[in-house]
Amino acid sequence: MYEVTVEQTFSAAHHLRDYSGPCEHQHGHNFKVRVTIQGERLNKAGMLVDFTDVKKAIREVFAIVDHRDLNEIPPFDKELNPTAENIAFFFQQKISASLANPDIKVSEVTVWETDKQSATYRP
Ligand SMILES: [Zn+2]
Repeated sequence: MYEVTVEQTFSAAHHLRDYSGPCEHQHGHNFKVRVTIQGERLNKAGMLVDFTDVKKAIREVFAIVDHRDLNEIPPFDKELNPTAENIAFFFQQKISASLANPDIKVSEVTVWETDKQSATYRP
């Protein structure tokens, strides 16, 4: 089993619905996202997946969320609360669809709201 990881950061505002505490008020984070790709086979170049392709897939999601209010963006406007857990899920779904390679799997996405707090989604 091979594993490749890429980390990137984006900035966004959010607030949490159905929650009582400081995070019910709008605030921002420099979110760090770590995407982990797994697979059994390497391509002819000896790569599980080209880092460039993973970074491009992450940038496509950043184009949706970076410097935005997450609460105004589907599915976070109604369907999902923009928690770190749900943001990790969202990235996993989007990046899986973008890479669309049956030989690899987006096995884990971790989203940090601060240096000390993160949430991970593993499908
Ligand atoms: Zn927050």
